[in-house]
Amino acid sequence: MRQNGGDVCPATMSTLLSTSADPLATSVQLRKIVHVDMDAFYASVEQRDNPTLRGKPVVVAWPGKRSVVCAASYEARRYGVRSALPAITAERLCPDAIFVKPDFVRYKAVSLAVRAIFERHTAMIEPLSLDEAYLDVTENLAGLPTATRVAKAIRQQIHDELNLTASAGVAPNKFLAKIASNWKKPNGLFVIQPHEIQAFLLPLPVGRIPGVGKVTEERMKQAGIQTVGDIHAMDLTTLENTFGRYGVRLYELARGIDHSPVVSNRLRKQISAEDTFPEDIPLVETEAAIRQLAEKVWNASRNNARGARTVVLKLKTKEFRSLTRSLTPLAPPSTCEELTTIALSLRERVELTPTQLFRLAGVGLNNFQADEQEPPPCPSLC
Ligand SMILES: [Mg+2]
Repeated sequence: MRQNGGDVCPATMSTLLSTSADPLATSVQLRKIVHVDMDAFYASVEQRDNPTLRGKPVVVAWPGKRSVVCAASYEARRYGVRSALPAITAERLCPDAIFVKPDFVRYKAVSLAVRAIFERHTAMIEPLSLDEAYLDVTENLAGLPTATRVAKAIRQQIHDELNLTASAGVAPNKFLAKIASNWKKPNGLFVIQPHEIQAFLLPLPVGRIPGVGKVTEERMKQAGIQTVGDIHAMDLTTLENTFGRYGVRLYELARGIDHSPVVSNRLRKQISAEDTFPEDIPLVETEAAIRQLAEKVWNASRNNARGARTVVLKLKTKEFRSLTRSLTPLAPPSTCEELTTIALSLRERVELTPTQLFRLAGVGLNNFQADEQEPPPCPSLC
């Protein structure tokens, strides 16, 4: 297909269809997706707003023994500190780290400012969290000729107006755009052209695939699966037998296929967190993990005025079977302990043998009382 100064996707659909030789490319190239991911978002906002933190290892985390790292500055990451790591471990890895309590009200305000920049370019925005979003820029509002130009403009505007950096990935679908945004992090831009998909994907380690965590990656390695190319070489039935429904997804992803559309203005119907255990454990040993997840969910939801009525516990067996149990108490949980107690009690409704092993647990809050409305970026008084 026609190259356009390194930019993805020529300007018109007719060019796309008439010059494409690769049947795979034809099926996936009709969309132009940008995935934007702010760099070390919470930590970067803290460093931006407090000059004494600049150039220093900053760890954003709640105080407390069970706390986990919400974000780490790049200076802290050099010591191996990462999001979701227990704060105690972070302290051990980087004794000089400066710990800062998260301020989600401020992060949300900055997130809205980032979103306002996205909205200059497209209405099709699907936020994944406060710091990342998919944008469908197949049609873009500023009339820029390519998706790459849109991504460049967005990164520039975020830098100039908000004094923060974002990385962006440009590709014909969401799956590839997300891998691409991570490729040149921090402050990077990476473009995957439709004709480059196979060459790019096949050598990638399986850990790059969204949904393949450390534990799955290790299992795949033991089964001789190291790269996306190894998955590509497997037939659908084998993948399905090994990984259940996720096997079908792996079959498609290994071929660069992802038909999922950008769902704009997705309402946040659930706040949840999940964790894959380092090794499979029986139900009785899941308490510590569930407590930690409940705390994470509680912290994430605490700035929402609305109450979530339903508590959900999710478990995944060693054999990749998912189970969910939920409870809607008369009044929404009002403390972290209440949420934790309900989540733990939901385990009693798992009717499997005590020897059953589990690989993952998740805790969620959903069924919010009021329709979700984004709060204004600052209170009406200012
Ligand atoms: Mg980020």
